[in-house]
Amino acid sequence: MSSVPGSTGLTIATSSMQDLRFGRQSMLRNLVTELIGVVLAMGHPAAPSASSADGELIEDLVAANRILADQGVLDGFGHVSARHDKDPSRFLLARSMAPALVTTADIMEFDLDGNPIDARGRTAYLERFIHSEIYKANPEVRAIVHSHSPAVIPFGVAGVPLQPIFHLGGFLGAGVPLFEIRTAGGPATDMLIRNPELGGALAMTLGSAPVALMRGHGDVVVGRSIREAVFRAIYTEVNARLTSEALRLGGEKVVFLNEEEAKAAAETNSAQIGRPWELWKTKARVQPR
Ligand code: MN
Repeated sequence: MSSVPGSTGLTIATSSMQDLRFGRQSMLRNLVTELIGVVLAMGHPAAPSASSADGELIEDLVAANRILADQGVLDGFGHVSARHDKDPSRFLLARSMAPALVTTADIMEFDLDGNPIDARGRTAYLERFIHSEIYKANPEVRAIVHSHSPAVIPFGVAGVPLQPIFHLGGFLGAGVPLFEIRTAGGPATDMLIRNPELGGALAMTLGSAPVALMRGHGDVVVGRSIREAVFRAIYTEVNARLTSEALRLGGEKVVFLNEEEAKAAAETNSAQIGRPWELWKTKARVQPR
């Protein structure tokens, strides 16, 4: 009785030449099976890295990436994140890549200092500190969009406040603070929120508002869910575009929603978020579950 170790660590017992030959064949079979496994694994996306998070949350985050790209809020740049559903001291964010191309395998997990939990060689976004510091500062925030939303940029530089011009922009009625990076970072930054200090300063400017403008850069939009953050990011862009158009018409005075109207409209809208979400998913060709 002799023992031949198989390639998978199994031990194959042999008692004769015939059995020995069988043992060798078996080893070969094991080796081939293993090689096929390796080749298949190479061709398939890895399991989601944030595997401890709810699968539906990860799918919504992937959908949010694609929707925001499809709606022109994100392009090759910008990102959207979600707080981890089981561990509020962590959040989920794609690896550094164009949002329209994000899949579940690209979602990484971070702590609230912006450190990746298990990077596996994947590169993180330079501006992940926008997310880590806002989640740290405000426990109510469950999703964040950072974008260079094109119609919004002028409101960060022209001294014209962004106000709700129509009912779907009602959430802007609480006021939209403006982040000036020179205050925290001096006169010679590259405008990026590339460390926790700048992220903390941005979170402080945002406070409990749903949106903050970033001068010469873009904006940051938060929500109590991925869908709410996506809704707000899209309608911040639309509201900005409509306001510029109204101002260009050159009327005596543009009439915005007053505080009460904005508050009431925002409450009504927050119950309606599911409707456009389904439409946006279809337009962005997100596969139904
Ligand atoms: Mn940016």
